[in-house]
Amino acid sequence: MANQSHITIFAPALSQPAGEPLSYGGLVEAIRNGEAQELLWDPDLRKVRVTLLGGRQSVVDVFPENPVLIQEADAAGIPLTIQDSRQQQALTGLMGNLLLVVLILVGLAFLLRRSAKAANRALGFGRSKPRLRAENDIKVCFEDVAGINEAKNELQEVVAFLKQPDRFTSIGARIPRGVLLVGPPGTGKTLLARAVAGEAGVHFFSISASEFVELFVGVGASRVRNLFRQAKEKAPCIVFIDEIDAVGRQRGAGIGGGNDEREQTLNQLLTEMDGFEDNSGVILLAATNRPDVLDTALLRPGRFDRRVLVDLPDRHGREAILNVHARTRPISPEVDLATWARRTPGFSGADLANLLNEAAILTARSQKQCIQDNHIMGALERVTMGLPAAPLQDSGKKRLIAYHEVGHALLATLLDRADDLDKVTLLPRSGGVGGFTRFIPDEMVVDSGLVTRARLQAQMVVSMGGRAAELVVFGKQEITQGASSDIEAVTTTAREMVTRYGFSSLGPVAWEGDQAEVFIGRDWLQQRPTYSKDTAKALDEEVQQLAKQALAKACDLLSRHRPLMDQLTDELIEQETITGDQFRAIVDRYQRQTAPPDHHVGTGQTTAVNCLKASPRPHPASEGAGGGG
Ligand code: ADP
Repeated sequence: MANQSHITIFAPALSQPAGEPLSYGGLVEAIRNGEAQELLWDPDLRKVRVTLLGGRQSVVDVFPENPVLIQEADAAGIPLTIQDSRQQQALTGLMGNLLLVVLILVGLAFLLRRSAKAANRALGFGRSKPRLRAENDIKVCFEDVAGINEAKNELQEVVAFLKQPDRFTSIGARIPRGVLLVGPPGTGKTLLARAVAGEAGVHFFSISASEFVELFVGVGASRVRNLFRQAKEKAPCIVFIDEIDAVGRQRGAGIGGGNDEREQTLNQLLTEMDGFEDNSGVILLAATNRPDVLDTALLRPGRFDRRVLVDLPDRHGREAILNVHARTRPISPEVDLATWARRTPGFSGADLANLLNEAAILTARSQKQCIQDNHIMGALERVTMGLPAAPLQDSGKKRLIAYHEVGHALLATLLDRADDLDKVTLLPRSGGVGGFTRFIPDEMVVDSGLVTRARLQAQMVVSMGGRAAELVVFGKQEITQGASSDIEAVTTTAREMVTRYGFSSLGPVAWEGDQAEVFIGRDWLQQRPTYSKDTAKALDEEVQQLAKQALAKACDLLSRHRPLMDQLTDELIEQETITGDQFRAIVDRYQRQTAPPDHHVGTGQTTAVNCLKASPRPHPASEGAGGGG
């Protein structure tokens, strides 16, 4: 047993050294004949490393249980070391597991931190202040707001409430809490609200209602609270909420229920308005162009119970607005702003401000000192027709467009009640407009908003002028799609005449309602056809009939004035732009020279602009124009 002492346990790694490998039999043989000098055995790896005479080493595969090897080594007196690699493996395993645990812990901590940050941010939303603009030194006053006198007068009262509340409270009058400014965009609602604050000399808070609405439910409500808290601190003040319909829409009007966040915000707004003590000095002004979609709770007495209409300005209003904006700009003395007010029906205050601004830019570009008529005209065309494009080169296409535009212009001049021609031009505009004809709409119609049946019929005939000219001059096969927008306009007018105004043989029945945008959900779900299939067919036929009649009349008038049309077209191609006065002079001269075959008395209102839209892809017909009958 003395040789047992040769057996030691340690743990270096075993790998096959270079040289001839030894078999198990060879190993036993080497032990027996004394060639082996030292043995290192790893039962776990089932390997023995043997050091032979001369120092050569070899690794031999053995069984894990190998008493023979021990006996042989013992008998030969060769030192046998047993290596215990389990310790090492256990250690490695332990280290690996520890590392894994550490990794998992680090990963978890990272994830937790991230979600905590997100949660913090989410909660921060509620705390974050809305972009509330508080101004205490408003310079705008009622003088800067023009053309909306009724609205201004209504709001004078609010100024009085803010300036001298005692005058009202002493006799028991309750100061209104909310005033709703209703009107299309750009009519000066924000300006008016600022002017109220400016006149009263109070703080002005403004916020857009869409800023209340956030992804997280409850944030909007907290912002409303925040807004009212700040406003009460600064009372007396004006709080202006723009686009109130963003939160004030009727609750429960969406398809499949409502919008939680918006409804909560609205509820908060309603609650806060109720929570005002009477006469607290905070007056809410809210703007919208869709009062019909607002929740009725918002409009009840004690909330937004006053409604002020801020409509598009009439001619005098437009002139006044132009004058306001001309105050800060050098305008040439010969510019008559009243004429420009006449030429801009349907323009809002913002449009007019923009018009003068564009004119000022054009003036600066042309290195002039003050704004002249041609600059304003350039600006008007930029605003209404788009930027100028490269002049037309192709003479065939130019001739076709010239005939098309002269068709509109001549009919407008021939028809008695049609709007005055302002100008007809062949100078193209960006967006594929090859040329256009502009009219000055009748003041009576624009101001009163009333239009006669005869005037609408005349409008359709003038609109059909372009297509009719193409037909008369170039023949059926050569007409172009350039008249598509005219045809669309005619169809819309005819349909409205038949289905809404009772201007047809189908009688005074409103077959269709106002085609204004439906209020999603509510109106859509309630929409039902109000007439039978037979009526629908009759309506379509009637509309078709009206459009056909307009085209027939246009063709008839133009063919009877064919020489005049040719002369005007040559003139237009030559000059590229003919003003209304020049055009009428040519027509007059012609009519004096030749006894007019028939002076057709027609009717009036025309579209403000008739233009020929060139196709994005050249249309074969428009390319081939120039010949034909
Ligand atoms: P809204 O709030 O109705 O959309 P804004 O009050 O923001 O319109 O109007 C935009 C700009 O248009 C104003 O800053 C002002 O320059 C001009 N504007 C609009 N209406 C008028 C007006 N009645 N008088 C003078 N300027 C106006």
